[in-house]
Order: sequence, then C-alpha cells, then structure tokens
Amino acid sequence: PVKIPDMSHLWMPFTANRQFKEAPRLLVAAKGMYYTSHDGRQILDGTSGLWCVNAGHGRSEIVEAISRQAAELDYAPSFQIGHPNAFLAASAIAQIMPAGMDRIFFTNSGSESVDTALKIALAYHRARGEGQRTRLIGRERGYHGVGFGGISVGGIGPNRKAFSGALIPGVDHLPHTHDLSKNANSHGQPEWGAHLADDLERIVALHDASTIAAVIVEPMAGSTGVLIPPKGYLERLRAITEKYGILLIFDEVISGFGRLGAATASELFGVTPDLITLAKGVSNASVPAGAVAVKHNIHDTIVGASAKGIEFFHGYTYSGHPLATAAILATLDIYKREKLFARAASLSPAFDTAAHKLEGGRHVIDVRNLGLVAGIELAPRPGAPGARAAEAFTKCFDQGLMVRYTGDTLAVSPPLIIDESQISQVFETIAAVLKTID
Ligand code: PMP
Repeated sequence: PVKIPDMSHLWMPFTANRQFKEAPRLLVAAKGMYYTSHDGRQILDGTSGLWCVNAGHGRSEIVEAISRQAAELDYAPSFQIGHPNAFLAASAIAQIMPAGMDRIFFTNSGSESVDTALKIALAYHRARGEGQRTRLIGRERGYHGVGFGGISVGGIGPNRKAFSGALIPGVDHLPHTHDLSKNANSHGQPEWGAHLADDLERIVALHDASTIAAVIVEPMAGSTGVLIPPKGYLERLRAITEKYGILLIFDEVISGFGRLGAATASELFGVTPDLITLAKGVSNASVPAGAVAVKHNIHDTIVGASAKGIEFFHGYTYSGHPLATAAILATLDIYKREKLFARAASLSPAFDTAAHKLEGGRHVIDVRNLGLVAGIELAPRPGAPGARAAEAFTKCFDQGLMVRYTGDTLAVSPPLIIDESQISQVFETIAAVLKTID
C-alpha cells in the first residue's frame, strides 16, 4: 500500500470531487490492461484512462522512445526551426488520415486541437477573401474541451452559461441525435435520426450562408453519453456543408486511433471532413499531445496568403515537442505492428454481445455501442439525476473495474488490447454492481 499524501494543495479539475476527498482512490502504477491502486489492488481499465490509452499501459516501446529522446534532444523551438521527429510524426499521422488530409498541425491537447481547427477554418476563409465567414456551428451534447473555443461550440448548456459573457459570438447549435428517454438499444449505428442533420439548412436560412465558417461535430459524441451517429447523418452534414462552402470539422479526439474499429470515424463512415482534431490516442496518452489533420488545399491557401501579408498567427511553445513526437511515432508503430484498429473491429461482435446482455437488466434503459465503445444508459433515480451512475462508478472501482460516468450514462472504452474474457468481466461486473444499487 502507498501512503495517501497531503491533499490540501492540489486543485483537482472540475468541482465534483467531494466524494473523492471522503474516500480517496489513487492510482500508483499501470501495465497492460490494469491499474494498481494505492491499496495494492489490480483495477481492470475499462475506459483506457480517459479514452486515451488505446494501446494499453506502460508500453515499453513508448517508454524507451521518450527516454531516448529526452536524453538526446529535450526541446527544440517549433517556430522557424525544426527537428526530425516532428516531420516524421506528421508523416506517420498523415498516413492514417483520410486521403488528402495530409497536413498536420501539432498541439498539446484536445482543447488546443479544437481551438486550432476553429482558427484554421477562419484563417482559410480570410485567406480566400471571405473574411466575413466567421460564424461557427456546433451541436448540442457536443464536447470539445474547455478552451473558450471549445465551450463556445460545445453543446453543454451549463458550461456555456457559466462563461456566457466571454464566449465566441455567432455560434449556433444543431440538435443532438438521440432521445435518451427512448429505448434505442442500438447495435452500431441507429437507423433513425439522419434527418436531424437537415437542421443545418434551418441555421443557414437564419443567417447568410456566406457568413458561416465551419460546422464542428464529434462524429461519435463520447463524453456526453456515447451517441453513435445515425445512418446517413454525417453524409447529410457533409453534403449540406459542401453545398454552402462551409468547412466541416470532425472532432476525433476520442473516436480517432481505433476506438470504433478503424483509424478514424471518418474512415469508418466513409465521410471525409475538411479538418480532423486529434489528441488522446495519438500518443497513447504517454505524454500530452494533440494534432489537427487538414486538407492540403486548406494548408496551401493559408500559407500562400502569408506571402500576401495575411498572416496566420498560431502555434504553441510545445507544438511538435520532441518528447511528444517521439511518443507519437512509437505509438503509431504499435498500432500498425499489432494491427490494433483491426483488432478492435474483430473484437467488436463479442463486445456487442457482452454489452447487450445488460439490456433489460436492473436500471438499464438503453445500450449503445460501436467498435470498442459502449454507453449504458441508466434510468435516473427520481430526484437525483446522475446519482445511480456515480454510485455504479464507485462500486465498480471497488470491485476492481474502472468505468466512466457522465449524467446517467456509464461509458466503457477499454484499451484495444483487451481480450474476450476481459470484455465479459467488464460487463459482468457492471451487471453485478447494478443489482446492488437502488
Ligand atoms: N474533444 C473531445 C471530443 C474530447 O473528448 C475531449 C476530451 N475528453 C476534448 C476535445 C478535450 O481534450 P483535452 O482534455 O485533451 O483538452
């Protein structure tokens, strides 16, 4: 057992940590599919940390790459100068992006990737002499991180309200695609709901189409409840954005790097956006890293305009950091060598079967899943929304399983190295825990 340190000085992210202070749960080590808790227990990682450790924990190839890089070249500025791994890592990412999306801008997190993508969208229009295109469109229940860009386009009402005075002006939101009170129990993509993309036409009609810069959606909304896009929905968004010269951004911070059984949701659904935001799985979360993949004509237009004095002022001290790019190269090499995206696809039927065994079980009103991600919707406890899921999370942890909860959804998104017996264990533990909850 590891002693719990003084907890008075750390300001933990988000404020819902009261429970934690009463009964601290600390993670002190991790290897493969398992965390070790401070009290010496093995915890099966049912969520890849925060949907990010897709290749499993403590991968020696990544550890060695980072440590070699730290000893050799700890830091290099990313402005007007470079280092080899930044170029190599950009090429490696470009190789697994949809055809043509082969210009890569490095960031350090998902929130930064979102801000970067929104700025690139505006810069592109400006570079083409369409500087009036500044309006942005997000979607209800979209989560795009915690920067001002991300919360402006994000679809979490209380989040927007809390900072309403400082949000980006000129943002509209599409409706989200799921009626959570309705039992859908979708295996993969729901049949119903593609027409909701047509709401984009309503928003376009409200404003002049030539004032709209971009639409940003998570192809699969993760953090707000695992909402799989209805069949045809993304295709319709793509058709409408193309019709009006609006850029389409897919936020693939969660759906990228194999989660759905393909390199990207874009590839899986056969819909190519103009920009893709990435983070989490890009470095297997070993060091903070993010990226935006951009169509090369967008890159060329923006870079070309700088010759005419229209600058795109954007970049981070740590863009393409040597440690991050070394980690990215080692991570992408593991995905490729171990064919982990294909593995996720081939495990998906077993995952689907195990997840849907929960259907009809105590408190379970809906099970949604695709690839290696599932959302289990619980009936809210009367007068205490979210309480059941929070209790299930705690009890699962105490039973040796890490899941995630948001509202009344339990989310499961294990590392892609999971095996079939561990998949059964995940859902059997959840079923057993739900039986003990009022
Ligand atoms: N976009 C999406 C879709 C996400 O899921 C997240 C994080 N959960 C973010 C952006 C923000 O990423 P970060 O926390 O790395 O800033």
